[in-house]
Amino acid sequence: MEKKNIYADYAATSPVSEKVLRVMLPYFTENFGNPSGVHRVSRTAAKAVAEARRKIASAIGADFSEIYFTSGGTEADNWALSLAKGKKIVTANVEHKAVLTCCKALEKAGTVVTYLPVNRDGFVTAKQVEAAIDSETALVSVMYANNEIGTVMPIEEIAEICRKKGVLFHTDAVQAIGNLPVDVKRQKIDMLSCSGHKIGAPKGIGFLYVCKGTPIESLIKGGNQEFGLRAGTENVPAIVGLGEALKLACENQKNNSEYVRELRDKLIDGLLKITDVRLNGSCENRLCGNVNVSFSGVESEAVLLMLDAEGICASGGSACTTGDDEPSHVLTAIGVDKEYLNGTIRFTLSSMNTTDEIDYIIEKTSEIIKRLRKIRGI
Ligand code: PLP
Repeated sequence: MEKKNIYADYAATSPVSEKVLRVMLPYFTENFGNPSGVHRVSRTAAKAVAEARRKIASAIGADFSEIYFTSGGTEADNWALSLAKGKKIVTANVEHKAVLTCCKALEKAGTVVTYLPVNRDGFVTAKQVEAAIDSETALVSVMYANNEIGTVMPIEEIAEICRKKGVLFHTDAVQAIGNLPVDVKRQKIDMLSCSGHKIGAPKGIGFLYVCKGTPIESLIKGGNQEFGLRAGTENVPAIVGLGEALKLACENQKNNSEYVRELRDKLIDGLLKITDVRLNGSCENRLCGNVNVSFSGVESEAVLLMLDAEGICASGGSACTTGDDEPSHVLTAIGVDKEYLNGTIRFTLSSMNTTDEIDYIIEKTSEIIKRLRKIRGI
């Protein structure tokens, strides 16, 4: 097979789509206004921010006044968790570092955090959440879908328990939006984090949905932007891009995920034919584009470099954990055996991938694993 150029790391980030770029461009140049002003240049920018907010609210079933733009998923998570400072939080031990590191910092400030363990597929159950809630619990934060192994959490059941117990429910939906349906009212979500760069918007933009009446306080203090709760001049082009990208992602969610799921299953079938391999995460409740496999007897870094040399971009765990010497906290939490732990590869697909690309990935990965094992005499 002739060498290709394949991107299979969409959970790390995605390109800004042509359509999104086109709607953003005027807001860098002729429509450059600061939305806080009163003149027409400002009013044009303010109108564009309002339109983006409206598109997002409508796509996720929220009200206009419940969407707060942030610098991305990390800030949205930090902001949501800050609500429980000094009280009690219940979360899962497989959350993204944006949640876990923030929880560690909050613990230093006197917050009590319960990190629920997951089962071998990466799930926490509503029952576990229910048992962990006590009269001082202020917030439950459980991600909609895991960024490493793709496990989709039972967030509706968890949200139901939280409502019943009168505890706020936050979900990090960074990996879920565009891949799974989101309807915050129906799903009883009180706060939801989203990041633009996973769905074809630029990096450095996201939002936090906060249900009306939730006693959130500002994290970033200064001017009166974002209904007085998130200071700083708005990143207008990025906000406009996020509005368009989210609208498109939600409109196409069903069709795209059906197509991507077929690619994913083909890739999983092909990779599982390699010897001494295991699939990490759930077979059933799994993000449509996520394939996370571990091979014994190889180091993921070597596999990734060789895949890259063949034109395939994949990752070892999450992009945010690159540089960590520690094995992935998610793989450790689901109990991946030591012999497999260091040989983990994550391919994450989108509707931009093709069947031919999947054939190529399977062929090259099989060759690479064989070659590396041969070098080690396995
Ligand atoms: N939460 C999850 C589940 C993620 O996958 C990521 C990014 O990888 C983040 C939060 C952080 O989002 P951002 O890069 O926009 O700060």
